Amino acid sequence: MKQQSLFSPTMRDIPAGADIASHQLMLRAGLIRQNAAGIYSYLPLGKRVLRKVEEIIREEMDEAGGQELLMPAIQPAELWEESGRLDDYGPELMRLKDRHTRDFVLGATHEEVITSLVRDELNSYKKLPVNLYQIQTKYRDERRPRFGVLRSREFIMKDAYSFDASKEGLDQSYQAMYEAYEKIFSRCGLDFRAVEADAGAIGGKGGTHEFMVLSDVGEDTIAYSDSSSYAANIEIAEVPKPNVERRGEEKPLEKIDTPNMRTIEELSAGLGIEAKDILKSVLFFVDDEPVLVLCRGDREVNDVKVGRYFDTVQVESASPEQVLQHTGCRPGSIGPIDLKEGIQIIADHEVAGMMNSLCGGNEEDKHYTNANIERDFRVDGFGDLRFIQEGDPSADGQGTIKFAKGIEVGHVFKLGTKYSEALKAEYLDENGKTQPLIMGCYGIGVSRTVAAILEQHHDENGIVWPKAVAPFDLHLLTLNAKKAEQSELGTELYASLRKAGFDVLYDDRKERAGVKFKDSDLFGLPVRIACGKKADEGIVEVKVRRTGEMEEVHKDELPSYLE
Ligand code: ATP
Ligand code: MG
Ligand code: MG
Ligand code: MG
Repeated sequence: MKQQSLFSPTMRDIPAGADIASHQLMLRAGLIRQNAAGIYSYLPLGKRVLRKVEEIIREEMDEAGGQELLMPAIQPAELWEESGRLDDYGPELMRLKDRHTRDFVLGATHEEVITSLVRDELNSYKKLPVNLYQIQTKYRDERRPRFGVLRSREFIMKDAYSFDASKEGLDQSYQAMYEAYEKIFSRCGLDFRAVEADAGAIGGKGGTHEFMVLSDVGEDTIAYSDSSSYAANIEIAEVPKPNVERRGEEKPLEKIDTPNMRTIEELSAGLGIEAKDILKSVLFFVDDEPVLVLCRGDREVNDVKVGRYFDTVQVESASPEQVLQHTGCRPGSIGPIDLKEGIQIIADHEVAGMMNSLCGGNEEDKHYTNANIERDFRVDGFGDLRFIQEGDPSADGQGTIKFAKGIEVGHVFKLGTKYSEALKAEYLDENGKTQPLIMGCYGIGVSRTVAAILEQHHDENGIVWPKAVAPFDLHLLTLNAKKAEQSELGTELYASLRKAGFDVLYDDRKERAGVKFKDSDLFGLPVRIACGKKADEGIVEVKVRRTGEMEEVHKDELPSYLE
């Protein structure tokens, strides 16, 4: 490709509104342009990188037994009604009507479509297991799209779905995806950790992992051990268990009217926050008084039920930093907190559920509607429970805990039978008995991965692409295109290097050498080959972008030098 005709408008200055390196570089190097908030065009360089990442993903998915298909982005709303997610998913789901006023949604994810697709086709254990994946544009009306393509409203995702006949089968499918993801992100040149994540009610322990690229701009915090493979999203990082004793007999809990009693709805109304916007609620005990801190989400919560996000902590006092750390919220995303003046709660059904699960109860018991903590539980021994801190022993007993910020680039999840039961996707087992398909789902943010790569691979002069995902292999330049010997050598090498299998970007523009070098550093192709003063001797200057190493090489030795 000749740079002369490359559609890659560059910018010298840092673009307004771009706060992080990847966003700035994608704009400056002409990889993307914004069309509307969180909606982008990928220009040729950006598209090339996407393609490289997609190819890595395809290779590893196919190797792991996946089969690529392509599902529609437009999905009938009835399917989402069947699964129960039409309401649950919330405003992140983009909705539309056709000319007959039938309801549709733009695909935010494809569990419903894939489950309805296979339910009519995969009807015998003999046809299982199956793993189907697609690489496709997804739509999520994020409350706050930001950071360029890291959190956008239209983005590219690889989503895969596995179907098994047994729990053991699902474990194997899951493990295969987990290993494929490790290969994919390693090949993309990323420093990442697979962390245990919050599986909610479905996944169970070990039932879900997020793949986190370590980066200060990450929105998640992970706790990991410095000397073992233990790593968890701080949402679920293990802290010592509190001692909670149930006082008195077990009995159904009922609503008790006290002046202090508030429901989540009342609390949120009082605070001017919509209940559905509460990302996390932490119950602190200050001087044995329960104090509820409601944290506003700084991103939209959709499939998360408020109740899952209760946590209890006994503190005499806590600094806002500790509260922020513990809740995983960002500064500014929660209002002023005065623990002493906090909101006195006495329980609504979520607290009842939380108290119950601390007492070893099970999920079903959450139908309790209300609890009076004072009456039904003696809460003591909370002194053991504290914020997980750096330097704490790791949950696996090996090494100590460190914290890092992470960008979630991938997510693997054991779904079990949630969707197959809701959508009646069944197969006949060996005994001719009808069973729901056992499912897993596995996502990778393809466009987010490109941005995450940039976060980890740049310097003050621009991008430093890892070889495997660079838009071109080589950047060939003439330093002075007006000199015949330079442009002749350039033309010759442009042909021979391409013939040798390299993807070459050739800058033979009549620009000053300084301008070309600046662009070259900004574009960040792994190797730069400059035809300059010694062109008449057939000698070029080769520079490795990452290390800055330079060497003079004769044109005949170039192919073997570049091996
Ligand atoms: P997040 O926590 O960042 O909102 P998520 O947990 O909602 O992500 P998943 O439903 O697990 O996302 O989707 C699979 C993958 O899709 C994520 O791991 C992430 O890499 C990517 N992804 C999700 N939302 C976005 C987005 N708004 N922009 C770009 N990529 C996204
Ligand atoms: Mg999300
Ligand atoms: Mg997430
Ligand atoms: Mg996720």
